[in-house]
Amino acid sequence: METRVCIYCSISFLPNKYSTRQKVCSSPVCQKKRQQESMRAWRQKNPNYFKYDESKGPVWLETQRKRSRVWREKNPEKIKLYRHTHQAEYRRYMKEYMRRYRETKKVSVKKPPSPPPAPPPQL
Ligand SMILES: [Zn+2]
Repeated sequence: METRVCIYCSISFLPNKYSTRQKVCSSPVCQKKRQQESMRAWRQKNPNYFKYDESKGPVWLETQRKRSRVWREKNPEKIKLYRHTHQAEYRRYMKEYMRRYRETKKVSVKKPPSPPPAPPPQL
């Protein structure tokens, strides 16, 4: 088997025989980069996937909310684990979330914000 050169760190590596298109070595740093880049590419292809689409209507929105509530209730330990391993990101996210929340709700502050969206289930 021939060696290849990682597109990120330029170190040569042996590709996995089951993943013939592999362009990235197995180092965690390069793998994280690869994942982030593929997510970014995917989001660019699907820009409205996570956005509320008005044409889908309030029933659809309620279904989505219910689905993520059910998931959160079923997987409380995953939420805890996720928050624990992403504490810094989570704090930053909540800070930004609260800042935006205060901006949009400057007039009436009655309800606390809804919890952040559930992390993806494939954790
Ligand atoms: Zn690499």
